[in-house]
Order: sequence, then structure tokens, then C-alpha cells
Amino acid sequence: MYAQVIVDIAHSVVDKIFEYSCSDCVKTGSRVKVPFGGRLIDGFVIGVSDKSDYPPEKIKPVAEVFDELPALVPECFSLMERISSRYKVPKALSLRLFLPSEMRLGKVREAFKKYAVFCDEEVKISKSAKNQQAALDFIKAEKEYDYIGLCKIYGRGAVNALVEKGAVKIEKRQIKRNPFDGLGFGDEPKTLTFAQRDAIESIKNTAQTVNLIHGVTGSGKTEIYLQLIASAIKDGKTAIFLVPEISLTPQMLAQLRARFKGEAAIMHSGLSAGEKFDEWWRLRSGEAKIAIGARSAIFAPLENLGVIIIDEEHDPSYLSETAPRYSTVEIAKLRAEYNGCKLVLGSATPSVESFIEASEGKYNLICLPERINKKPMPEVIISDMRKEVKRGNNSAFSAALREELESTLSSGNQAIIFLNRRGYSQKVICRDCGYVAKCENCDVTLTYHSEENCLKCHYCGAKYRMLSACPECGGTHIRYSGTGTQRVVADLNELFPQAKILRMDNDTVSGKDGHYKILSKFSKHEADILVGTQMIAKGHDFPSVTLVGILDADMSLYFDDYRSGERTFQLITQVSGRSGRADASGKVVLQTFCPENYILRYAVNYDYKGFFENEVRLRKTTFFPPYSLICRVMVTGADEKRTVEKLKEVYFAIEEMQKKYPDEFIFFNRMHSPFKRLQGKYRYQVLMRLKSDMLLESIYDIALKCTSNDVLVYVEENPTNLS
Ligand code: ADP
Ligand code: ZN
Repeated sequence: MYAQVIVDIAHSVVDKIFEYSCSDCVKTGSRVKVPFGGRLIDGFVIGVSDKSDYPPEKIKPVAEVFDELPALVPECFSLMERISSRYKVPKALSLRLFLPSEMRLGKVREAFKKYAVFCDEEVKISKSAKNQQAALDFIKAEKEYDYIGLCKIYGRGAVNALVEKGAVKIEKRQIKRNPFDGLGFGDEPKTLTFAQRDAIESIKNTAQTVNLIHGVTGSGKTEIYLQLIASAIKDGKTAIFLVPEISLTPQMLAQLRARFKGEAAIMHSGLSAGEKFDEWWRLRSGEAKIAIGARSAIFAPLENLGVIIIDEEHDPSYLSETAPRYSTVEIAKLRAEYNGCKLVLGSATPSVESFIEASEGKYNLICLPERINKKPMPEVIISDMRKEVKRGNNSAFSAALREELESTLSSGNQAIIFLNRRGYSQKVICRDCGYVAKCENCDVTLTYHSEENCLKCHYCGAKYRMLSACPECGGTHIRYSGTGTQRVVADLNELFPQAKILRMDNDTVSGKDGHYKILSKFSKHEADILVGTQMIAKGHDFPSVTLVGILDADMSLYFDDYRSGERTFQLITQVSGRSGRADASGKVVLQTFCPENYILRYAVNYDYKGFFENEVRLRKTTFFPPYSLICRVMVTGADEKRTVEKLKEVYFAIEEMQKKYPDEFIFFNRMHSPFKRLQGKYRYQVLMRLKSDMLLESIYDIALKCTSNDVLVYVEENPTNLS
């Protein structure tokens, strides 16, 4: 037999198929070790045949086969071709998406546990060996017992003596590590409302592959997802369920676990290597049928998919930020087509792109305009912060927010305070000379963190000692400017000394269940106020939350990004949606310096349609996506001179194209990135806005050609983050 192998080296030079001879335990999809260039390396078998065109003496044998069941499912190969040609990456890089990285490097294996098993043998035990006798009696009664546990009770010597005499044998058994074992229980399936039932019917009956559920927060989308999954499983199929950030949604996990028990597997970057490995194989072997996870779970090793669900489809985390820079929705469409199943996108604030598709009839659109039980949307109070300042209120909280907080706390309810800026203060400035503290590796201002009394870079994590004097002028008038979450908590503690306050941001959560611990404390009402960054905006369902405070609604409006209006609308709607989900009705206080801003007006009135129509008009007339394609070619390297050389090379190559197709280019320039240096790498970019994707492939080719060992060149399409 002969195996066609792709070697696991992500380099265009070896991006081809190599042939090896093999035994018949090598199958399409097997992971193997093969001799390559004088050493053994990992490879993926993408096909086997009984003939080869090469002369037999030139063909080397496969050195090792890894798994009995081929790790890669057949669907991988067609996806590999599509991904590699679409994003111009070597096939090996595409295939890596389908395997947990720990597994690829051969770092994890199954976990084993040793059991002591009683053997029905007559053995002699001397009278003095009391422990041996006791251990034997115990194991005889128990039949088998955890070996380590047995040794702890009776002593290792006694147990091993029994093993030597043949009275007990040791068996190694594979154990499955069970992540999130301690998760609580979810509810039973609910009796669907008419709207929910119609939604499910519509998804099942439509001829369209892609479905978009536009349902306001609290409209019962989750129950629709769960019942669609249940129905796929009932039909003997499998399902993929994607959420933006799985650690932020422990309640969702609890629900899925409770409903589907062992049939649900979790794919999550916070799991230990061993846990990831086990969960992955549970899916591959067919023991588990539902993959739940963030973006990368779209590559779950499932066959015969019955449904794919992408919750909060507008979330930026669905775009990969490392090569290949794929869009999750795009991959999901390919998988849905391959499997002939439905793709369901859901959101209270669909992305403009998706909603355009839906309104043009390319997606099946389902609208859920009301909350379950017709609960009203929370009332929004706008605080004009300009007036507050005029009145002499320089604190982070408006009078209205303070009042609402007071009444929320005194009625025993809970509040959420949202501010998209962590740390204590945003900047540290010298009042004498205007010096602003910046990171040495990155072109980024440092943030003051009061708990550790230090300055931190939020891009590379570097820590610096707090300044006692200005390094430029020696002045000692150091001032903090801009409020962060730490400071908000400090201020709240002063205002409401009796209230218990939790903070959730990148500084307070650590480890795989860091989020879970904070959220579960809050949901058990062990705290009255939760202060946090956008982490707290996502799908949580806390019944006692009746007040949401948005401290600075303007913050995301002023980024230099065509999507900033959309992001602001989404964020405000999502955060507001946390309020008044159960019996008591909710309120939102929104603080702004710019209450007349149209985005805020739409958000306050829950007017998605109005926002959407306005946004589409704007993008059409100004030629922004999806009515154009923003394309950024990043050029990064540690050596500035080399990086600039490469930048010029890229620029001139694209300039040639521009001369040929001037009409395709709306905008074209080369420049520094907004952050000139990050983590020690210089960052230059060629930025362009194109009429269509006609030249896209050639631009990918240029990037590939210009990449060298010391300078990385890559393409980003409509990047979500232009830093
Ligand atoms: P969404 O995901 O649209 O924000 P959820 O799925 O979280 O909304 O539902 C909001 C609330 O309504 C939840 O507390 C949920 O338990 C409840 N709910 C959903 N469907 C039903 C139903 N059919 N009957 C009763 N309660 C429901
Ligand atoms: Zn830094």
C-alpha cells in the first residue's frame, strides 16, 4: 500500500504531497511519522492507494502510525483545499486547524489510572502480615479498587506483596478527564412559545441553508438552539454550537450539560492539554455528538452534522487573528453545504453584513421582536455628562445613576456597571512637561494599576514601577487621567460602603474557571454590584439584575473604524439586555457627553431597523464594507530597516496593480500602523479600500512572495482591529 502524505511543516516549499509505502493499518486521515530530510517528522495521510507511479526503491516506508481511528474526518480534505486556496496558506497549516495543537506535537496522551483487581487465587499470608490480610479482605469484598487509594489505606508494601503473590493484579485503565465537572444544573426543556415554534418550523422547512435569527435580548433564542440540537441528535446526527467566548457563558454550558449530558463535549482554550485531548477524542469517536466552543470549535471532528449554530454572530471574536485569518461564518457555510444541514446565526444585534444578506433574501430571516412573556425592554435614562460637569459633579457617576443605584440596593436587587477600560486610570501624565508614560516594547500608553501600584502595558503585559518623578523633566506633579474599572470599584466602595462589589476584567480573572467563579458568586447574590469590561456584556441571565449603568457610552464611538457606530450600538444593546430579565422590570442609565448622537438614539429606542437602514445608507454613499473591501497588508519585523525594505517591495508591487486597474482602488497608501511597534516588532502597513475582491488573490500572492525569514507579511480583510 502507498500513502499520500502532507508533512506537518507550514512552509510553501514543502507544500505538496509525498508518497510513502505503508501497511494497511494506515488509512486516509491517519496521523503518521515519516522519514523526511534525514529525520522523522509528523504527517497527515490524505489518501491511500495500492499503486504508485514512483519506482519502488525510491519510496520509503511510513515509520509510525498514531491512532487506530484516523484522526482526520473525510470532510477535512475538501475544507483543507478550500481554506488553503482561499487564504493562500500551506495545506499543513489548514490541516492543523482540525487538531488540538497539543495533540499535534505529541505532547498529550490518554490519562490512565491504575486499579487493583482481586484475583481468585489461594495465597498464603503469614500471621504477622496484618496489613496484607486486611487489604486482601478488603479487595475481596470490593472486587476492585483504585490502586493508589488502596496503598494509602494499607501501605504500598502490603499491596505490592499481594500483587507479587498473584492475589491481586494491577490494571491500567483509561480515564476521561471531565472539564467543568462542577457545573450546576440547567432547566428542563421548556414548552415553546408560538414564536419559538414558528422559528424552528421555519428553519426546518426553508430551502435556504443559512438562517438568521434576529431576536431581542431575552426573546428565548437559547431555547430555540437547544431544541434544534436535540432534534438533530434525535435524527442520529451531530451538532456544532458556537459561542463567542465560552468561559463567559458558564450558564450556557450548564444548560447544555444538563440537557445532553455526556453527548456534549467542550472545546475551550482554557482547558488543560489532557482535557482538550479527551474531549476531542470523545467527539471523534462518536461518544459525544455536540461540540460546544468558541471559534475554533467550527473545526470539530464530527461527521454527519445535523445543525450548526453560531450565537452572537456579530461578535468580532469569530474572525481569526492568526493565519489562516478565516471568517468562522464562511467556514460554517462550507460545512453546512458539505453536510446538507442548516446553519443558524443568532443575535439581538446582527452584523450589518449579515442583515444585508438576509434582507436581500439570501438568508432565511426570523424576527423575534418581543421578550419571553412580553416582558418590556428596560427603560433607558440618558445622563448628559456635560450638564453634570457644569453642576460641579466631576465623579464617574451621574446624579441619576447614583439615585438608581441607591434604590436598587435598598430593594435588594443587583446592578451591573459597565466600563470598557480596565486598570485604575487610563494614562499617567506629567503635569509639568506633558510626558505620558509609554511601554518600551510597544507604542502604547501605560495604564496605572492601583492594587499592585504599578504601570502595565495592556498589549504585551510588561510591568513598570510607578513613577515618583517624571523621567523627562524630573517634575513630581504626576497625574492620573481617565477612569478605569479599578477606580470605579474604589469610588463605589466609598459611595456605598455596605454594598458588596465584584470586578470582572482581564486583571481579575485567571485560570480556566476564573470567569465562572466571579459570575457564579454574582448569580448566587453574594455581591450586589458587578463592575466590568465588555466581558460582562455577553449573554448572561441574572434574574435579580434590575439596573445597568453604562459609564461612558461614547468611548467606542470615536475609534477610527467604519464599524465603531455598529460596535457601539451592539455593545449598548447587549449590556442593556442584562437588565430586568425576570419578574422585576429593569432600568439602564447611559452616561454620555454626546446625547444627540444618532447611534445612541437608535440604541436607546431599541431601534435596530432604524440603525440598520441609516448605517447601510452611510456605507453605500461612502463606499465602506460591504460596499467595498478594506484590505490591509501588514509588514512586521524586529529590524526596522529590513521591515521598511519589505514594505516598499509590497507597496510597489501593489502600485503596479493600481496602475493597471485604477478604478478598483478607492484608497491606497502605505504608512506606520497606529501602533508603530508591538512586542518588539516594527509594524508597517499598506492600507487600501477596493471596489471588489477581484484583486484579492493577487494581493495574497504578493504577501506570500514578500515574506522572508525575518519579515512577516500578511493580509487582513476588513480587519476588526486596525491597531
Ligand atoms: P436570549 O438568548 O434571546 O437573550 P434566553 O434564551 O436567555 O434569551 O431567554 C430569556 C429567558 O426566557 C430565560 O430566562 C429563559 O429561561 C426564558 N425562556 C426561554 N424560552 C422560554 C419558554 N418557552 N417558556 C418560558 N421561559 C422561557
Ligand atoms: Zn508593551
